[in-house]
Amino acid sequence: MVHGGGLGSSGGRKGWGGVFDPVAEGMSVDERAAVQQRRLRELVGRLLAVGGVQAERLRAAGVEAGAAVTLADLAELPTTSKLDLWDHYPFGMLAVPREHVVAVHGSSGTGGRPTLVAYTRGDLELWAAMCARALAAAGTTPGSIVHNAYGYGLFTGGLGIHQGAIALGATVVPVSGGFTQRQLTLLRDLRPDILTCTPSYAVYLGEALRAAGMDRDGISLRAGVFGAEPWTDGLRAQLEELLPVKAVDIYGLSEVIGPGVACECIEAQSGLHVNEDHFLVETLDIDTGRPTAPGVPGELTFTTPTKQALPLLRYRTGDVASLDPGPCACGRTLVRMSKVTGRVDDMLVVRGVNVYPSEVEAVLLAHPGVAPHYLVVVDRRTPATRLLVVCEVDGETRTAGAQTADALADALLQRLGLHAEVVIVPPGTVPRTEVGKARRRVDWTGGEPPLAGLS
Ligand SMILES: [Zn+2]
Repeated sequence: MVHGGGLGSSGGRKGWGGVFDPVAEGMSVDERAAVQQRRLRELVGRLLAVGGVQAERLRAAGVEAGAAVTLADLAELPTTSKLDLWDHYPFGMLAVPREHVVAVHGSSGTGGRPTLVAYTRGDLELWAAMCARALAAAGTTPGSIVHNAYGYGLFTGGLGIHQGAIALGATVVPVSGGFTQRQLTLLRDLRPDILTCTPSYAVYLGEALRAAGMDRDGISLRAGVFGAEPWTDGLRAQLEELLPVKAVDIYGLSEVIGPGVACECIEAQSGLHVNEDHFLVETLDIDTGRPTAPGVPGELTFTTPTKQALPLLRYRTGDVASLDPGPCACGRTLVRMSKVTGRVDDMLVVRGVNVYPSEVEAVLLAHPGVAPHYLVVVDRRTPATRLLVVCEVDGETRTAGAQTADALADALLQRLGLHAEVVIVPPGTVPRTEVGKARRRVDWTGGEPPLAGLS
């Protein structure tokens, strides 16, 4: 047994109406707290024994033994962040001998150094089980065909979902990103029921299906598991219109394990169940660093007690969301996190007001006729910073023209408390992303406009 009670084998589903691990996902809050406390103690003991930066911080905080720690003490323990991973790049934070590492993944970092994460064989099994839970929550069954259009490589999306589908006993099609014509052929011929990719690529794929005359009725998809970039309920409605799917959100980041940290259930489509028996979750107030109450947004922070190669204590993700411990229609007792509403470090400050691009998206997509293609341009060429919101609308709405722009500007003012200039451009103007994540914001500090037609 590698991960302790509750995980079980990763060899297949164990019943209870589409739930991958009924024991772990359905246990009472008290039972889970007992599991969490035991695992947290083991983690603290292990970190102290291994030494290194996390041990130093624990000792500086007065923690000398794992057994001394209770779950209630979590908020007093030291935190970690991406900076620690960069400072100890590539293998300085390993908690196992290097030769126990069987795989590495990572994300592109700024300044050339990737954020590198190491996995033991046990970590890969844990990750597969977490992704299997997520896929099952989206309605994937052992007979399903999963069209996996997340990129394969250092990025965790492709291989994480891949291993999860196998653990669940589904058939995975490792199509990866790009080569859209080939994707259309495989969607037609293999008749997958589950689509997994970024939401921006799902839009791209949906539009390509339409352009190819492959309408909704000819496509066998039932559910889409969309993640790796924040998206809104407005985009959910558009995705479900564009593709014959129920769209669910999946959340994860390589530092914590990859996709499968949390996922929405198809029954409720309302918040992402966090696999909190393996990823202890907190939301921290951005200014004070103290945990926020349920429902109050804060920085998502995870502790990974069962990871072996790179266990992290209170890893601050930079993602902002809130937690909902209330019951869910699906029967899972795992706490739900809201969709990620922004990034602590992607937050734009425009004339002293905090703006998250996802809030702009929520306003735009609530307006009928607005397409899910937009760009937030912060014009910093003069000290009087301007916020430009460039978006596309459909043909009918376009005839309404200035009226739409005014209505959107009003709605943005209501939501953001900030005046934005809305620029409506012809369909196809905002750059599409075929691979990877959509670029939603641009800082315009001088030179040519970032998009033709702006001034
Ligand atoms: Zn649920």
